[in-house]
Amino acid sequence: MPVSRPVPSDSDPDAAFLAEVRGFLAEALTPDLREAGRRTLGVHSDIDACRLWHQRLYRRGWIAPGWPVAHGGTGWTPRQRFLFDRECALNDAPVLFAGGIRSLGPLIIEMGTPLQQARYLPAILSGDDLWAQGFSEPGAGSDLARVATRAVRTGDRYVVDGSKIWTTGAHLANRMFTLVRTATEDRPQKGLTFLLIDMASPGLTVSPIITIDGEHELNAVFFDQVGVPVANRIGEEGQGWAVAKRLMQLARSNNTPAALVRRVYQRARAAAMATPDLEPGLSARLVAAEIELTAFEQTELALLPGGRLREGDNTSPSVLKLMGSELHQRVAELAMEIAGLSRGIALAPFREEASWLADGARATAKHFATRAASIYSGSSETQRNVIAQALLAGIR
Ligand SMILES: Cc1cc2nc3c(=O)[nH]c(=O)nc-3n(C[C@H](O)[C@H](O)[C@H](O)COP(=O)(O)OP(=O)(O)OC[C@H]3O[C@@H](n4cnc5c(N)ncnc54)[C@H](O)[C@@H]3O)c2cc1C
Repeated sequence: MPVSRPVPSDSDPDAAFLAEVRGFLAEALTPDLREAGRRTLGVHSDIDACRLWHQRLYRRGWIAPGWPVAHGGTGWTPRQRFLFDRECALNDAPVLFAGGIRSLGPLIIEMGTPLQQARYLPAILSGDDLWAQGFSEPGAGSDLARVATRAVRTGDRYVVDGSKIWTTGAHLANRMFTLVRTATEDRPQKGLTFLLIDMASPGLTVSPIITIDGEHELNAVFFDQVGVPVANRIGEEGQGWAVAKRLMQLARSNNTPAALVRRVYQRARAAAMATPDLEPGLSARLVAAEIELTAFEQTELALLPGGRLREGDNTSPSVLKLMGSELHQRVAELAMEIAGLSRGIALAPFREEASWLADGARATAKHFATRAASIYSGSSETQRNVIAQALLAGIR
């Protein structure tokens, strides 16, 4: 049975940092928050736990480790950020609803006007604003440039008509960043514009989508003559493609998929430890998963020098996304198999409070939820295309 190494050891230069983090987590992560973290199936935990955990991190000044210090970041080294995420995962911290912290905030810091920075960044940090991402449409997923939701400018506002789909947390967020079409030109990438939309706008409706794990995280969003001030535009009209691409890069470089995988791995390992006479094949897979996970953690650290991607590095986000999401799936499947063997798989009770990890059902639901990891934020095929194109360009 593999044994998780404490990272780092007491002789590590980050030992004092780690002790500080552990001290904080021991106090701030109350049992209810840890339970919410353990119960997480999809991309964020129960929203009340998210809000509470966000508040506690905010008050401690640790809510946005990836942001520049001038805008509220922590000034941690990339390794310290990595260790922090890892400790949060190992201690079952809730997974934040983080569209603002992870995606839009860094984009506004880079591309927003001073007015937009003053208006939006404080509310992202405090957690008062929750942001959903409105990119995908029924006809525009991998081929995102096919976005058809129209925005027509009249005076100092746009009027938006159309729909978005697979919008995570649209029913929870009070704001949404979107890609809309303001012109039809020869290339679909042209004529797109990046807008920030208030979810309370008249004419905007949200309709739930329940996924195979039984959860409600996804939605369809409909726009019927929704008015959006021109001041809510990031970048110039028609430059939305470049803005959205940058946001995706920032989001992929600013999250820590290894920590998410570590959570599931830890659960699989705990279930294995509690299983007498675990099948040798499963033990071997668990060991292999630990090795892969450790390698992935090192890759993550290596590809993000300075905690941010190197200028012009378009490939590393795809490498990290691809490795992270596929390893996540393998480990979740392994967790299900181990839990299933020890407790018996039964799908029916997976919504019952008492059934969390007491049976294989929750692990099965987690396995189902993790199937989406190779689809959202760009599918595995999309990432492979990006990597292959970069490799071929290097050969030519
Ligand atoms: C859980 C979840 C959460 C999501 N959250 C959000 C969100 O908050 N906001 C948002 O905007 N979107 C969100 N999405 C949508 C997600 O970004 C899209 O599902 C994804 O981009 C794929 O698009 P699609 O579903 O239209 O599939 P398609 O693009 O139709 O792809 C179908 C299949 O074909 C493959 N394929 C497509 N083109 C190629 C190609 N050129 N080469 C090889 N294979 C290809 C794909 O990889 C996929 O396997 C979410 C999706 C999921 C599952």
